[in-house]
Amino acid sequence: MNIKDLENLKDGQQVIELTGWVDNIRDHGGLTFVDLRDFTGLIQLVFDKSGDVDTKLKNEFYITINGTFKKRDEALINDKILFGDYEIEVTDLIIINQSKTLPFQIEDSIETDENIRLKYRYLDLRRQPMKVNIMTRSNTFKSIRSIMNQLNIFEIDTPTLIKSTPEGAKDFLVPSRKSPSNFYALPQSPQMYKQLFMMSGFPNYYQIAKCYRDEDSRKDRQPEFTQLDLEFSDASPELVKSKVEEIVKFVFSDAYDCKIKTPFNTLTYEEAINFYGTDKPDLRIEEKIFDITDIFTDTSINFLNDILSSQGSIKALHTKELLTRKQIDDLDTEIKELGSNGLGWFKIEDTNISGPLAKLLNDNEKSKLLSYGSGTLLFQAGIIKEIANFLDVIRRTVFQPLNNDVYSFVWIEDFPFFEVEDGELQPSHHPFTSPKSNEIFKDDPTNATALHYDLVLNGVELGSGSQRINNPEIQTLVLEKWGLSKEEISERFGWFIEALSYGTPVHAGFAIGIDRLIAEVLNQPSIRDVIPFPKTQSGLDPLTNAPANIEEEVLEEYNLKYINKDE
Ligand code: ASP
Repeated sequence: MNIKDLENLKDGQQVIELTGWVDNIRDHGGLTFVDLRDFTGLIQLVFDKSGDVDTKLKNEFYITINGTFKKRDEALINDKILFGDYEIEVTDLIIINQSKTLPFQIEDSIETDENIRLKYRYLDLRRQPMKVNIMTRSNTFKSIRSIMNQLNIFEIDTPTLIKSTPEGAKDFLVPSRKSPSNFYALPQSPQMYKQLFMMSGFPNYYQIAKCYRDEDSRKDRQPEFTQLDLEFSDASPELVKSKVEEIVKFVFSDAYDCKIKTPFNTLTYEEAINFYGTDKPDLRIEEKIFDITDIFTDTSINFLNDILSSQGSIKALHTKELLTRKQIDDLDTEIKELGSNGLGWFKIEDTNISGPLAKLLNDNEKSKLLSYGSGTLLFQAGIIKEIANFLDVIRRTVFQPLNNDVYSFVWIEDFPFFEVEDGELQPSHHPFTSPKSNEIFKDDPTNATALHYDLVLNGVELGSGSQRINNPEIQTLVLEKWGLSKEEISERFGWFIEALSYGTPVHAGFAIGIDRLIAEVLNQPSIRDVIPFPKTQSGLDPLTNAPANIEEEVLEEYNLKYINKDE
């Protein structure tokens, strides 16, 4: 029997073969108290001294007991736990298995290094908070499958040994023994396959898909992650967005017992950058960035003049409180580390303005600045794209969310088709995204907009999707404008362009990052806390020691060999 089954027992009844782990042992004079834990709960066992239990048992031994279910004395009731008003007087004990000394205690809060927790993840997962995280994950999958069945969306799987699906990261490669010198790639997403389903005539598709991206791990990134992947035929962005809202609303209510409001708000990319400095705004923070360029058109502050004459603008945030010098200096250091020239600021107190630039203000500028009222005006000057990131950091550092328990969803749309990364054009989503206007894309691809939409929750990018290109010529053009040569297009994507050429329906889709969703709902600091067996920040698995060295003879079978192995 398990601990939850004790609910059916009354005071004085027999407990038969209750099994679980020793959670805690306490010695009290003539009696030994042992907390027994299983997946369903915790109960106190009472042993009399005659059995020497305190020397026989240790934490995490796996045991079975028989005994009597007994109401505790009034003074000993613990109403914080499920069976805190009962205990079991043990008559028989069988030790099923012993435990070595633990690397850390199985307690709710521990201060153990994450590498150790991951090395012994199977023990870490015995801890109650981790159990809650993993069960929330399991419930999320269950709810997703339930709403998918209700909406009649088909679960279809796609291969994981593939050629390559570009999503802006590097591929994980798998060498092929049967075809030495050739490699499979693990999918960065099932993107092209889900589009093929639409070409094959399926009206829709979903998959709880593993995706692999070889990029730096961060708190919200893992080399291997899980997404709810969706695609719909004859679909527009509006249709996809309304399906996603329906799915998210159901999962929140079914798996998290939380009602959320739909439809979600929408911002254009430009609005998001202008008002929040980021395309992932946390709208629980009320304060927005505003433009103060007009105040400084006749300024005698030289650096502002220079910026304004090279098409820059001045963007500001206003705190009602007067920030301390230390707060200002810390913020200044933080944004300088990110590349800002420094934090501009004025302190406004009644009719007085102070700050390093205050002496240079003329009367007109002063009176306009005073109209913002007492507080601190923080600003950045430059081209908005270049200063947005600093403004985002300032906003998130000086202002707090009004309410931390709220889920604030927002759609971001009208992204630029291309962004420049390390001097190279990259599609801001992926190269299968349809331009908003093919004509504008043909004329000026670097200024074209994409039919790409992101869903942001509390400042975290929860998912992305787009209307897809369904015309082989436009697909080829997009790949050309991305910078691929005719040969590269044919070698990497020829098969896909061929597939688009046989009457492809209009189609669109989306993917929701399941790990991020759960981490956000459970307010966890990192997605690693909601993934059963995650990799460390450097992409390693301390439990199995993957990735591992391969013996040279094995490599030979793949026609591979190490260069400078010891470097
Ligand atoms: N393949 C995209 C991604 O993984 C999602 C999509 O466009 O549907 O982000």
